[in-house]
Amino acid sequence: MYLFVAELARWCIAHDVGFSIENPANSWFWQAPGILALSDDPSVSDVCFEACRHGGRRPKKCRWRTNVPALSSLEGACPGGHTHLPWGVSRGAKRWDFATEAEAEYPEELCAKVAAVIAQNCASAQGPVGHEPAPAPTPRHDPDAELRQQRQAAAGTQPRRGPGAQLVPEFREIVHVQVVDETEQAFVRAWKGALK
Ligand SMILES: [Zn+2]
Repeated sequence: MYLFVAELARWCIAHDVGFSIENPANSWFWQAPGILALSDDPSVSDVCFEACRHGGRRPKKCRWRTNVPALSSLEGACPGGHTHLPWGVSRGAKRWDFATEAEAEYPEELCAKVAAVIAQNCASAQGPVGHEPAPAPTPRHDPDAELRQQRQAAAGTQPRRGPGAQLVPEFREIVHVQVVDETEQAFVRAWKGALK
């Protein structure tokens, strides 16, 4: 996994594509082979910030290793002037809620700031993500295809072509299994019900 991420980042560097790898600032992840070595590249730098600076509810220390210099505008510690939610575990209505889990989500403010930085970076045509985008094929308005994509999205499968297409296949292999045994059928029904 580490090696794959490192390899992907190397590919991005070689092809002038912007990337950003995120993990908690003091995670062992940063010491992993390949990930550590990325820092030796002159185009790569670390951006460290506390999540509450950008809309997080706790001062989670984040590190992003990136080749997009403009992201350095995110850097900084908690600016103070607000209260933090406590860390720990609380009992929710149905399950235990982990504060770390809640804090794994990007706050909306952070998303908006990153989007603004990237958009500006593209507009100023500087840095790895600043290249003129390749002219996109004129999208042919196809309401049927749109509907199909919406249905696929609703069904949890993702479109393989068009704007929603993935770079990495969702599954390595799809195996169809016929369930004939009644006990097993009941199991599958219960399992599918739990997914809804
Ligand atoms: Zn704070």
